[in-house]
Amino acid sequence: MGSSSGNNFDVIIIGAGVMGSSTAYHAAKAGLKTLLLEQFDFLHHRGSSHGESRTIRVTYTQHHYYPLVMESYKLWQQAQAQAGFKVYYKAHHFDMAPHNDPTLLAVIDNCRKHNIKHQLLRHDQVAEKFSGRFSIPENWTVVSNELGGVIKPSKAVAMFQTLAFKNGAVLRDNTEVIDIKRDSEKENGVVVFTARGEKFRGKKCVVTVGAWVNKLVKTVNGVDLPIVPVETHLMYWRVKEGHEGKFNIGGDFPTFASFGDIYVYGTPILEYPGLIKVAIHGGNRCDPDKRKWGPFVKMNELKEWIEERFGGMVDSSEPVVKQSCLYSMTPDEDFVIDFLGGEFGKDVVVGGGFSGHGFKMAPVIGKILVQLVVYGEASGVDMNHFRIGRFNKTKSML
Ligand SMILES: Cc1cc2nc3c(=O)[nH]c(=O)nc-3n(C[C@H](O)[C@H](O)[C@H](O)COP(=O)(O)OP(=O)(O)OC[C@H]3O[C@@H](n4cnc5c(N)ncnc54)[C@H](O)[C@@H]3O)c2cc1C
Repeated sequence: MGSSSGNNFDVIIIGAGVMGSSTAYHAAKAGLKTLLLEQFDFLHHRGSSHGESRTIRVTYTQHHYYPLVMESYKLWQQAQAQAGFKVYYKAHHFDMAPHNDPTLLAVIDNCRKHNIKHQLLRHDQVAEKFSGRFSIPENWTVVSNELGGVIKPSKAVAMFQTLAFKNGAVLRDNTEVIDIKRDSEKENGVVVFTARGEKFRGKKCVVTVGAWVNKLVKTVNGVDLPIVPVETHLMYWRVKEGHEGKFNIGGDFPTFASFGDIYVYGTPILEYPGLIKVAIHGGNRCDPDKRKWGPFVKMNELKEWIEERFGGMVDSSEPVVKQSCLYSMTPDEDFVIDFLGGEFGKDVVVGGGFSGHGFKMAPVIGKILVQLVVYGEASGVDMNHFRIGRFNKTKSML
């Protein structure tokens, strides 16, 4: 890509959550004149990427995530080495459910297919291994593996932004993008318009606006993407007196996911001493600009799960800390990573719908988005799972 000056860039990235910030880092590192625009303050708490912990795990029901997670492990290590501080904390990972649960069976199948070293544990083995900290019913199985861990999200986003800046990217917050148009003065490229009345020219543009993706894409080309903004909640629960220290990260306590009637997930104690994160996947559909900040879904079921699964060592009466966050969810919970198409051809790339499981793969997603910008394709990745065209209901944009 060529040179640039003033308000002209090789690539303009809209949205500075983890996906946009990782993309800006990869773009700047690749020598592209890069602009990252964010509507709110950097590291704000109104999107999907803030907070203190996200699970990284390799156990997926869909085979196509395995290579992406494995590469991300490597890229997280590389980025934190460049930054000089740590965002990834290692842990084991547990998946648990009734023996015949289809999600659990798919996880086991995935472990076998990809030779992920794992152990299947019965209820008595779990009780013994964890001295009663985990208690599962007799008809449940645990899949245990060593490839778990926790990423610190706000710190990781700050890391990517810092690395992007160090590599020459221009970063602007409090700059809402209100439209993208074809550049009428040039053969290719786009003009990005902001609410402050500014214009930026880019040879390419990447849209990573999380739960706002429908709003922006609809304005830009009138198409409704089936990506739904959902409000979800993180909760932290007090470990009872006498059991402190047993659930800490760095020991043998794992990150975990529990399938069945409800999908519960959690991480060892890291951010708040004495409080363990246990939450439910999912929430209520919302308008990202008119959040209700509640109500919490399935609280009684979650309390029951905590009481039963932690052998009474965690106080299940009320969470001590609650945080509201946004998911942007596709119907199949697979990501959208694709060209916007239509009049924009391959000049505008959309990365969205990262749901409740995208954070761990942010390094590789940023890399893929930059490959799409530079080469028009991503090497070694089967992009068919992420195409906009897979949604039958969506009008073709290509
Ligand atoms: C509670 C919760 C728990 C999760 N747990 C895990 C987990 O354990 N493991 C895991 O891997 N993943 C997890 N995830 C998923 C992961 O956090 C998300 O997939 C990821 O953060 C999505 O990032 P994003 O950059 O797409 O969106 P966001 O972080 O929301 O970033 C989008 C940004 O675009 C900005 N923007 C929007 N519109 C405009 C505009 N017009 N102009 C300029 N800027 C704009 C927004 O302000 C925002 O900053 C979890 C998510 C949540 C909410």
